[in-house]
Order: sequence, then C-alpha cells, then structure tokens
Amino acid sequence: MGCMPSLSAVSLPPEVLARYEAVIGLEVHVQLATETKIFCSCPTSFGAEPNSNVCPVDLALPGALPVLNRRAVELAVEASLALNCELRSYSRFARKNYFYPDLPKGYQISMYELPLAEHGWLEIEIDGVKKRLGITRVHMEDDAGKSVHDGFADSDRYSYVDLNRAGTPLIEIVTEPDMRSSDEAHALLTGLKQTLEYVAVSTCDMEKGHLRCDANVSVRLKGERALGTKAEIKNVNSFRFVKLALDHEIARQIALVESGGNVVQETRLFNPDTEETVSMRSKEEAHDYRYFPEPDLVPLRISDEWLSAIRSRMPELPAAKRTRFREQWGLSVYDTEVLTASRALAEYFETVAAVSKAPKAAANWVMGDLAGALKAEGKPISESPIAAERLGELVGLIGGEISGKLAKEIFARMFATGEAARTVIEREGLREISDADALSAIVDEIIARNLKQVEQYRGGKTTVLGFFVGQVMKATKGQANPAAVNELLKTKLG
Ligand code: ADP
Ligand code: MG
Repeated sequence: MGCMPSLSAVSLPPEVLARYEAVIGLEVHVQLATETKIFCSCPTSFGAEPNSNVCPVDLALPGALPVLNRRAVELAVEASLALNCELRSYSRFARKNYFYPDLPKGYQISMYELPLAEHGWLEIEIDGVKKRLGITRVHMEDDAGKSVHDGFADSDRYSYVDLNRAGTPLIEIVTEPDMRSSDEAHALLTGLKQTLEYVAVSTCDMEKGHLRCDANVSVRLKGERALGTKAEIKNVNSFRFVKLALDHEIARQIALVESGGNVVQETRLFNPDTEETVSMRSKEEAHDYRYFPEPDLVPLRISDEWLSAIRSRMPELPAAKRTRFREQWGLSVYDTEVLTASRALAEYFETVAAVSKAPKAAANWVMGDLAGALKAEGKPISESPIAAERLGELVGLIGGEISGKLAKEIFARMFATGEAARTVIEREGLREISDADALSAIVDEIIARNLKQVEQYRGGKTTVLGFFVGQVMKATKGQANPAAVNELLKTKLG
C-alpha cells in the first residue's frame, strides 16, 4: 500500500473514464413513523433522557418476548405499495446474529428468505429522460441502540450505550444494481424520500437518522455483462455526500483496475472532510450472520382483506399528482415539479387554486411571494402564517376589488398577522379606488396643484402624464386603479 499514490489524487484522462461504467445498488434504512417500538410499547420519541424509553424487551432480559406492532406492519405495507412491490401474504422474521455493545440481544430481528415485499420499482427522471429502477425487496427489522464515545485521553475515555433507539421499527429497502451514475443514485434517493413522505410512513428526517443509506458500487468496461466486485459505502448521512462518495469511489475503482489491480469486496467509510472513502472492514457474508427463522414470533400473514383495506387508504403518489396537476390546473411542467415537491406544498397550492379559482395566479403566489416570505423566516409550508384558504381568498380578489400592487401590501400584512385579507382591507382601508367620482376629485386637485406640468403636457410633452399618474397614486397610497387614473387624466388634461 505504501507506494500507492492517493487514488483520489489520480485524475484519469476522460477517454479512459469513458470506457467504464459504474453499477450502483442502494440499501436504504427508513424509520417508520410509529408512536411505539416494533416489538414492545416503549415510545419512539427522539431526544429523551438516555435509557429512559426502555423495557425488558429492548434490554433483552431473559424471558422477555417480542410482540409485533400492527401499525408498523401497516406502514411497511404502505411503503411497499408506494414502491410498486408485490406483497407476500406470508413473510417471516429471522434472526441476524452479530455482537455489538448496543445490541444486547446479540441479534437483530430482521427478515431474510421471506421478506415482506419484492419486485418493485421507482421511476426517476433526469433531464427529461425517464428510467425505471428496480426495488429488490422491502423488509422489516428493529434498530439497534447507540454507542456514544466520549473523552480523548487514554485515562479518560468512556463509551456509553443508549438503548432508547433499540427496537425502533425500520424498513430496509434494497434496490437492484440498476443505477449507472451518482446522479441516478441521487435521483433515486430524492424520489424515494419524496414518495415515503407522501405516504407519511416516515418523516425521513435525515438529521435524526430517520433515513440512512448504504451505497454499493462496482465498475466494469462498457459493454461488459458481468458485474464487477463491489464495495459498500456505509451510512452516508446526506444525499449530497452519497453522490460525492460514489464519485470518489468510482474514480478510485477505475484507477485501481487501470493500474492492474483488483477491487476487493469490502465496507468503506466516507469522510466528508477529505471527500474520500476509506476501507473499514472486509465485507461480512450472509453466512457470518447465521440467519434462522425467529422462534419468538409467528410468521406474518397479511390477508387479502387487510391488504385491500390498506390499499384503499393510500394517498395519491407524486407521479400521479404531477400528471393531474398538469391536466386539472393547466400548470407547466416546471410549476408542477415545484408545487408537488412535498405533499404539504401540493395540498396548500390546491386549496389556494380552488378558493381563488385562478390556478395560474395561485401557482405564482405560492411559488413567489409566499415561498420567498417563508424562506426569509426559515419556515416550512406547514407553518405558514397565512392559511391556504386565506391566500386563496386574497388571490381571488385581485383584478376585481384590488390591484396586484395592493395585493402585495395586503399579503405582507397577512403574513405578519395571519389575518384574513378582508380584515386587513377593512381595517386599513386598502380597498382599491376605481369609483369615477372619488378619483375625479383627487385628479382635479392634483391638476390644480401642478399647473406648470399641465402647461408642459398641453404644449406636447405627453410624457408628463407619468408624473400625474405617480402623484395620484401617491395621494391614494397606491389604492387608485391605474387604468382608471390614466383615462381620467387624459380626458381632463386633453
Ligand atoms: P450482499 O449479499 O453483499 O449484501 P446483495 O446481493 O444483498 O449483496 O446486494 C446488496 C446491494 O448491492 C443491492 O442494492 C444490490 O443491488 C447491490 N449490488 C449487488 N451486486 C452489485 C455489484 N456488483 N455492483 C454494484 N452493486 C451491487
Ligand atoms: Mg445484502
């Protein structure tokens, strides 16, 4: 190893890189949004005092027996359906044996040869090109606890174990090795997260570790059918890092193969500071885990009735919503993408569109003024001070009772107070003045006060009209209808 240059430093000529292709498969762990753990009734809440959410089951005390959480099964089924998988009517939990201090049972309860669901797919789209990526399987399992390492000096180094997380329900989603670039992997993860958030099976909060990804990658010469030896990059905690880690690892493997070496099957870790992957351990094989059917749990049977009940509750998925938004609301592809990014945003927009009966304006207000104001305050759409119905009401008033300019002012006040548009309009007298008599009086007064400009106008300098319009708008605090003002001025000055 000593004489080998740092492989990330090797920059390969593009014509060499072009002869290779990457093959990527992902394993994604997702925490299910249940109130309680998968095999006991301890809460799953985050941030509790260490070892406070534990009981004999997650402490693995002798004689304690697991009881499967029905809600966890339902969420796992919903996730599987959203990923277009076939559900097994009969699946089975299995013991995956390994030792780790934060795993007091000495095994994880997972699924092995009879997983919950298989043969699914998810479609991604990059630069308008769609590609369907295979989902190999979805299975249920319990999470381990957490080891916390503390202290630096040898005499002052401690490791602690917090078992609050032990027994949290997870699904593991395994993809086929169908991705050919880090961009495709990134798109799959983005689509997966979006889909799981839509069906609300998980919050997918990556900062809390609710979604964790292992990326498997190998390289081969283009045209080659056989898969190369893969390396697995463990537990990368952001999608951007997954992409960086894959890019580094692909370059490393190509350089290795080019220099006559062989990729070894191993588990690697990504270091975000150096943007490199480093070897962690040789990859364990399935037989290392000595899987066998979990004797403390009966096989999981999902009846047709239960499955169809869950199926009937499934919400609209992102792809279907995008199609419908284009057809029903006449939105552009771009607007549709933005407005369906999350289910909360999509539902907010639909309410604004329906209440205002002006879908295009609704889209502009939600993506423009509202998104900007929320961003400035660092708030998600779910915490918008303006309820969707109220924004819809405001947008509906534009062009009728109020001008677009006035609407912006009313919007700002609504955003600050959460009030309804009409409340703001009434209190602040922000109604548009288009009444000819009211405007006429104001226009007369402005003309009388600016006789010099009147002469200029009559002398042929018609650009002075803009000056008069400005004066009227100022006098009415922007409430005058600009078209009506223009008309009036022309008549009176002419
Ligand atoms: P293992 O038994 O080593 O865990 P699996 O067959 O279960 O391997 O696959 C784990 C993940 O690795 C899957 O997402 C799969 O698509 C992916 N994978 C398998 N073989 C390769 C390969 N040669 N190159 C890239 N990814 C692969
Ligand atoms: Mg595997």
